[in-house]
Amino acid sequence: MYNDKEGNKRSEGNEPHQYQSSNQTDRPEDQWKFRAPYKIHDSSGGKNFDVKWKGKCHCGAIQYELSREKPLASKYCHCTTCQRMHGAPFQWAAIFHKEDINFTNGHNDLGWYDPTAKSTTHHLPCKVQCAYCRTPIMDEGRNMILLFPTLIEGINTEKGRKAFEVQSHMFYPQRVVDIKDGKPKFKGLAGESNLVDEETGEELEGTNPKEKKEKEEREKGEGDKKKDE
Ligand SMILES: [Zn+2]
Ligand SMILES: [Zn+2]
Repeated sequence: MYNDKEGNKRSEGNEPHQYQSSNQTDRPEDQWKFRAPYKIHDSSGGKNFDVKWKGKCHCGAIQYELSREKPLASKYCHCTTCQRMHGAPFQWAAIFHKEDINFTNGHNDLGWYDPTAKSTTHHLPCKVQCAYCRTPIMDEGRNMILLFPTLIEGINTEKGRKAFEVQSHMFYPQRVVDIKDGKPKFKGLAGESNLVDEETGEELEGTNPKEKKEKEEREKGEGDKKKDE
């Protein structure tokens, strides 16, 4: 590693921090480099990739651009894995499509961790970090990325706060701090589990939005059948 003119860390590309992460591109285990979210979009800032936000890790080795003004969703996760892995009371994650991100620096300095298998190979879903300064960058899921917005330039401005404002909390019963912000608090995954009362901390039976929708659809189906009879 060496420092560039702006004081950002840069790697020569020949110092693999993880066995997949080097400047080689010809091995089967290097295929991730050609796929989103790691695919380098050509002409950065040009017509092919409209830059709305820029972000970087603490040491500057990893830098990226985002082409979407607002995340698809933004959430706080209170699960114990997030608490431990972020050294923080909860995780803040903003969901983007894999095509919305363009890594402009440090492509070869990414490190992975799969919390399920406790493995550092690129197996989805996994956590993605800067392999040098260890700043968490994002969680890579099978279809989406969950980006950590505190790396984004301008996130602590009115515009940044507004664009990345959370819609809900998840895994709230595992919390280490109470947050009374009036936003929906889910027992598990957002939209797929019962809500938890913000004041009492109690689970509210029958509030799972996914189950409610499925029940409505079943009842509607039965109603239609009756009409046909
Ligand atoms: Zn870094
Ligand atoms: Zn979590």
